[in-house]
Amino acid sequence: MSAPTWLEHGSLVLASNNKGKLAEFEKLFQQLDLPVQVIPQGQLQIEDAIEDGLSFVENAIIKARHAARISGKPAMADDSGICVPVLGGAPGIYSARYAGDHGNDQANNEKLLADLIPFRKDGETIEGMFVCVLALVTHADDPLPQIFQGVWKGQILEEIRGANGFGYDPLFWLPELGKSSAELSKEEKNLISHRGQAMQLFRQSLAK
Ligand code: IMP
Repeated sequence: MSAPTWLEHGSLVLASNNKGKLAEFEKLFQQLDLPVQVIPQGQLQIEDAIEDGLSFVENAIIKARHAARISGKPAMADDSGICVPVLGGAPGIYSARYAGDHGNDQANNEKLLADLIPFRKDGETIEGMFVCVLALVTHADDPLPQIFQGVWKGQILEEIRGANGFGYDPLFWLPELGKSSAELSKEEKNLISHRGQAMQLFRQSLAK
């Protein structure tokens, strides 16, 4: 078994400036205990890429290439969001800017609640899923990005609940746990979340 070539660089740029994601990745990478330094792109003064893809996969690759191009290092990006089937998959790739301003979690949650009002019939539950696509590139023009994808299914609450996490966590209900995602600790969330699942696939790829 030979080590993946990107591991030989000794460092990996994490292509995200989202504090909530970075806090989860810190713990997820600690568990992997890789022989590389994981550097959030903000530490290298790398601004967010322009995400003009039409899918999570495309945007994850765009972000990873952007960070790899500027840093000259291998890079991993996370493109993630929440998809609600009755809304045709929205907010989807626009999750971070659903209500207009990028990263305004409160406004995004309020817009999602408002958009779902017409669908709240007869106490029916509304299904939703968090999606996370990780793209790993060895260099900016890598023709073979590695992709790891996680999907976490739940329901969309009628009001926010819980104080942990970020983004849409307070609206994401897990019936089997009787908790919202914002009522889980980082450790509990990482064990089952979309991001945790994608990182699990990444971990498995290292063993091949
Ligand atoms: P991105 O930075 O373009 O990938 O946008 C991700 C957005 O999706 C975040 O700003 C959140 O609104 C949402 N999101 C992704 N993952 C999570 C999560 O684990 N919890 C809550 N919201 C999330």
